[in-house]
Amino acid sequence: MTRVLEAQGIEKVFKNGDEETRVLNGIDLTLDKGELVALLGASGSGKSTLLSIIGLLLRPTAGSLTLSGERIDDFSERQRAQFRNRRLGFVFQFHHLLPDFTALENVAFPAAAPAGGISREMRARARDLLTRVGLEDRIDYPATRLSGGQKQRVAIARALMNRPDLIIADEPTGNLDRESAERVLALMREVNREDGATFLICTHDEGVAARCSRQLTLRDGKLVSNVSRTIDA
Ligand code: ADP
Ligand code: MG
Repeated sequence: MTRVLEAQGIEKVFKNGDEETRVLNGIDLTLDKGELVALLGASGSGKSTLLSIIGLLLRPTAGSLTLSGERIDDFSERQRAQFRNRRLGFVFQFHHLLPDFTALENVAFPAAAPAGGISREMRARARDLLTRVGLEDRIDYPATRLSGGQKQRVAIARALMNRPDLIIADEPTGNLDRESAERVLALMREVNREDGATFLICTHDEGVAARCSRQLTLRDGKLVSNVSRTIDA
């Protein structure tokens, strides 16, 4: 089993002047390749903070992180950004697509931005991914002309562009109606099953969590439960 993530003793304290807010208080967590893991917890329990730390968007106050077998604690900002781009994929509640760019340009972006342009190979892969997510007829649409559910599917295709070791999704269905949410969840499950992609999905939707292979619950800065189940097809 390939270990994708090993987090040990993660703590996060936010400081605002004299005020200190302890949000994470000793999180230990491992993820293996091919897992589809839901992170549950009340609003304000620290789910987004933990995802941001694992996604190298935020530094922990204490603790250590090993991602894809690399100990990243001493990485510089530049190394963190590079690792993030090459090894991690992100899906947020608000898709963060570039509004004036087409679906294809948005999907190709993680590969195209560091390279300074879209190559023929990148274009082909972006097309394949958009077909994969059911948007083959929207490839050249500007992001602004897509529905919420379509934008989120573009965001998933974009997250897959660089073949990440781990896809981090923060409330990916939080802004969608039932039907679009179902479709987005079904897509993540399919990518997980077929490509063995590893997902860490933070959600307050019990229905989403119930269909993941493992559920973690965050409370008072700690992981209070860790339940695995066999995922049905
Ligand atoms: P969740 O995603 O579970 O709703 P968050 O991780 O967004 O929770 O927030 C957890 C707690 O940390 C909240 O009390 C929030 O106010 C606080 N928090 C988050 N970011 C910051 C910040 N940059 N500065 C101060 N407090 C923050
Ligand atoms: Mg959140």
